[in-house]
Amino acid sequence: AVEIRDLHKYFGDNEVLKGIDFTVDPGQVVCVIGPSGSGKSTLLRCVNLLETPTKGQVFVNGMELTDPDADIDAARRHVGMVFQQFNLFPHLTVLQNVMIAQQRVLGRRKNEAEIIARENLNKVGVAEKSDAYPGQLSGGQQQRVAIARALAMNPDLMLFDEPTSALDPELVGDVLTVMRKLAEEGMTMLVVTHEMGFAREVADRVVFMDGGVIVEEGEPAKVIGNPSHERTRAFLHRVL
Ligand code: ATP
Ligand code: MG
Repeated sequence: AVEIRDLHKYFGDNEVLKGIDFTVDPGQVVCVIGPSGSGKSTLLRCVNLLETPTKGQVFVNGMELTDPDADIDAARRHVGMVFQQFNLFPHLTVLQNVMIAQQRVLGRRKNEAEIIARENLNKVGVAEKSDAYPGQLSGGQQQRVAIARALAMNPDLMLFDEPTSALDPELVGDVLTVMRKLAEEGMTMLVVTHEMGFAREVADRVVFMDGGVIVEEGEPAKVIGNPSHERTRAFLHRVL
């Protein structure tokens, strides 16, 4: 679970997050939507402390990451992140990409890491590419490897930042199918996305951000289907 309380983030004197409050309960999927520059990525990066919040608190599974005494590395181990760019190691095979953090961060032995890597590659449908290099894969396959790599760490929470935005349209569906399956299995997920169909079908809640604040949040049928705020309507009008 994630709990965010009065989160503020400044870059210099630019206040990018202006007091964000929300929670993601265990097993829930929350989709964050909003225009470019509204602070969506910054919010996600504050959840695993890739960015340091200027003010406010972030709790993951009851542990306050923003506590100066928190063991941030330990907390981060339970949070998987998938980016728009897949960030695979180009000089490692697919299998090695999914094994390396298990060995280095979790201290798993090689054969155990390999078994878990193969399970997760199978789960995302790219097992047959295990010995290939990332450059030999389509974008959709690379993104599914990135998801397998995150899952191999046994996260309690998965963060996705526009995971399909860099993909050719015909490859988007495969990645969304994997994400939908994860959601059905009960993974707790915080997903920044422009895929309104996915948000509508899969999200328990949708959060609409604009200008560093949450303008509106609620069930997808409400926020996407019948928004209360003019800013939400204007945004949806542009993307739908
Ligand atoms: P997009 O939909 O384009 O990905 P976003 O909602 O994810 O946008 P952010 O990337 O969170 O938006 O950026 C919010 C604001 O913060 C922008 O004005 C951006 O220029 C600024 N910003 C983000 N990262 C930094 C940084 N490292 N240094 C300075 N400013 C930053
Ligand atoms: Mg972004």
